[in-house]
Amino acid sequence: MVMLEVVHVTKRYRKVLANDDINLTIEDGRIGVLLGPNGAGKSTIIKCIMGFLKYQGQIQVNGLENKSIEAKKIMGYIPEIPSLYPNLTVDEHMEFIARAYKLKDYKAYKDALLERFDLTDKKKKFGDELSKGMQQKLSICCGLLPRPRLVLFDEPMIGLDPHAIKELKKVFEELRDSGCMVLVSTHMIDSMEELWDTTYIIKQGRVAAVVERENLKDNNKSLEDIFFEITE
Ligand code: ATP
Repeated sequence: MVMLEVVHVTKRYRKVLANDDINLTIEDGRIGVLLGPNGAGKSTIIKCIMGFLKYQGQIQVNGLENKSIEAKKIMGYIPEIPSLYPNLTVDEHMEFIARAYKLKDYKAYKDALLERFDLTDKKKKFGDELSKGMQQKLSICCGLLPRPRLVLFDEPMIGLDPHAIKELKKVFEELRDSGCMVLVSTHMIDSMEELWDTTYIIKQGRVAAVVERENLKDNNKSLEDIFFEITE
């Protein structure tokens, strides 16, 4: 079933054409990657999907208009730069999310997430007392707590240590295997390894190529070959 449908989305910031007629279709149980150099427009399309920006075109999430409350309830977003509350502790951030989403029976899952990302002994630390990597990990935990059915990660590996990267990759697989849809933006070709199903190569605001893993096997090219052919 189609979980995310982006149709002819164009976004301008004054004179800058950040997204130029973007189309994406991703089903549940699939991992999509937005791969492109700095400034290609990856963060912008993610923010359009999340409904944070005004744009031209249509975006549907599980058949719902992306800016509707019903759509927002099933969407998770982990921004490129964590945006935490300096005066809330790690645990209070999670409680805040739980209350905002009116979650029930979340305590065990909350603790499991914090444990998984090595934050159990940091529960009492305030947002502004966390290192960059710890902030990123808490941001991931906050994004996952409401158990979203589609999750958008904007450059999620930056600043994470190898242990956290490994854990995050397991999270991607678990989300996919449980029927969620995952969309990850990155400028590092190898960072998603074998994890992706569809890679959208983004160049100057456009989808320059759509690479399906199934099709890659047939022609003897790697994702890297295709990426450099298109972007160089
Ligand atoms: P990176 O890998 O560096 O994060 P990106 O692919 O996510 O890059 P975007 O952040 O979407 O790229 O930026 C796309 C284009 O839009 C760039 O030219 C950027 O300078 C421009 N842009 C982004 N945000 C704004 C803004 N708030 N105002 C004006 N221009 C912007």
